[in-house]
Amino acid sequence: MFSQEMYDLGAQPSVIREIFEYGKARKAAIGADKVFDFSLGNPSVPAPPIVNETIKKLCDTMVSTELHGYTSAIGDTGVRQSIADYLNRTHGTHFSSTNFYMTAGAAASLSITFKALTEPDDEIILFAPFFPEYSVFAKAAGATPVIVKCREGDLQIDFAALESAVSTHTKAVVVNSPNNPSGVVLSEETILELCAFLERKQKEYDKPIFLISDEPYRELVYGDVKVPYLTKYYDNTIVCYSFSKSLSLPGDRIGYILVPDEVAHSSEIYKAVCGAGRALGYVCAPSLFQFLIPACLGHTGDISAYQHNRDLLMNAFAEDGFQVAKPDGAFYLFLKSPIADAKAFCEKAKEFELLLVPSDSFGFPGYVRVSYCVATDMIERSLPAFKKLAESYGLV
Ligand code: PLP
Repeated sequence: MFSQEMYDLGAQPSVIREIFEYGKARKAAIGADKVFDFSLGNPSVPAPPIVNETIKKLCDTMVSTELHGYTSAIGDTGVRQSIADYLNRTHGTHFSSTNFYMTAGAAASLSITFKALTEPDDEIILFAPFFPEYSVFAKAAGATPVIVKCREGDLQIDFAALESAVSTHTKAVVVNSPNNPSGVVLSEETILELCAFLERKQKEYDKPIFLISDEPYRELVYGDVKVPYLTKYYDNTIVCYSFSKSLSLPGDRIGYILVPDEVAHSSEIYKAVCGAGRALGYVCAPSLFQFLIPACLGHTGDISAYQHNRDLLMNAFAEDGFQVAKPDGAFYLFLKSPIADAKAFCEKAKEFELLLVPSDSFGFPGYVRVSYCVATDMIERSLPAFKKLAESYGLV
C-alpha cells in the first residue's frame, strides 16, 4: 500500500527533534528560563543586514513575475556566475557559471549528488561523527553508507580504519569540515593525507573516487583557523554548499552543487546532477533567494557571538572536568560522556534541565552534542547546572 521504508523514516522522529519537543513541553511546565536547551542547530544570530536590505531592494526593483517566477532548472546564470567569480577571487580557482547547480540547501545538494554519482552496489564512506541525514540520503539514492570512525581525541581521520573500509565498491567519500556534531576542522595535514590516499586508491582500482565536501559551516571558524578549499587539493572534488548557516537563513533553503571541470567526466557528471535534480524534484531553487545571493557573498551573521558562546562553555567544561574535542568551527561541542552510555548521561542531564543530544545517531557513541547557537544568557544561566552534572559523576 505504501513504502514501508519511507513510513519507517517518517514515523521515527529524529533523536534531536524528540529532545526539542521534550524541551518545549518542559518549558511550558516549569518556565522557559529554567530549561537549558542545547539540542538544535538553528542559527541564533540574525542574518546580516544586507540580507533584508537586498530582499527589500529586489522586491522594489525587480519585475514580480521574474523575481517570483521559475529560473532555469539549474538556477539563474547571473547568480551562478557571481558565485563562480566570488570563489575565484577568494580561492584563486577558475570556475564559471556552468560548474554550478543551485539547490534548496545542503540537504538537496547532498541528495542530488549521491543520486547522481551512485549505482547499485556503490558505497559512500562517511566519517563518524557525521550528520545523521547522510545515511538517509545515501540509502535513498540506493547506495550503501560505510562508516569510518575518526580518531578518538582529536577526531581527525583514522587512515588505518579508512584503509580497511575502502574497496572497489567505494564511489565517494564525504567530508564535513567544520563538522556537525563536533565543530572539529580537518587540518591541512589530514586533507593532504586524505587526498594522497584517494589518489593511490584511484590508481589501484583504476576508477575515480569522488570527494564530496559538505560545507555549510565553511565560514564559521574562530581565530586564525583555515579551512582548506578542497577542489585545489583533489581534482575529483564535488562541493555541496549551503547558505543556511553562514547567512543565518536555514528556512529559506538556498545552496549549490559545484562540479569543477577537473572532475573526471565532469560534463557527464554535471548532466547526471541535472538528471538527479529532475528525478528528485529539486529544480529551480527558490528564485528570490537565488537573486539575493550575489549581494551577500562574503557576508556572514555576527559569528563573534558564537565564538563567545564557545569560549564560555569551553572554560566551564575545563573547570568541570569534562573532555571536549578541539572545536575550531561550526557551533557545536562534542563532549565525552563520563559513562559509556551517552543516552543515560543525557537522561541524567535532564534532571538538571540540560538538554543534550546523545552521539549514537552521529555514528560515534559515548559523546553528547552541545549546540551553542543559543542566547548567551541561557549559557550563563546553565553553567551551575553543568557543574552539578559534573559533580554527580565525581568529576569535580
Ligand atoms: N550538512 C550538515 C553537516 C548540516 O549540519 C546540515 C544542517 O544542519 C546540512 C547538511 C543541511 O543543511 P541545509 O539546511 O542547508 O539543508
